[in-house]
Amino acid sequence: MAHVITDNCVMCGSCADVCPVGAIHTADTESQYFVNPDECIDCGACEGACSTEAIMSADDLDADQVHFIEKNAEFFG
Ligand code: SF4
Ligand code: SF4
Repeated sequence: MAHVITDNCVMCGSCADVCPVGAIHTADTESQYFVNPDECIDCGACEGACSTEAIMSADDLDADQVHFIEKNAEFFG
């Protein structure tokens, strides 16, 4: 199961800087970063780097955050 970024993201980029596999990206038109679920190795480094607690394992999402699993995956087409 991959890690997932939610709308608590403030676009600081710290998570992308620490991801060992380069799985975290965004675009100018977006308001948050996203994790590529096909690349994420679930190491947890991004979770520790995020000051707004915007990232967590998909297993730990609250019910009202589960839709972010699909939203993260959709960014990568
Ligand atoms: S570290 Fe957190 S707030 Fe910063 S870009 Fe990543 S998810 Fe967003
Ligand atoms: S859990 Fe690890 S591999 Fe997955 S996005 Fe975060 S830093 Fe990258």
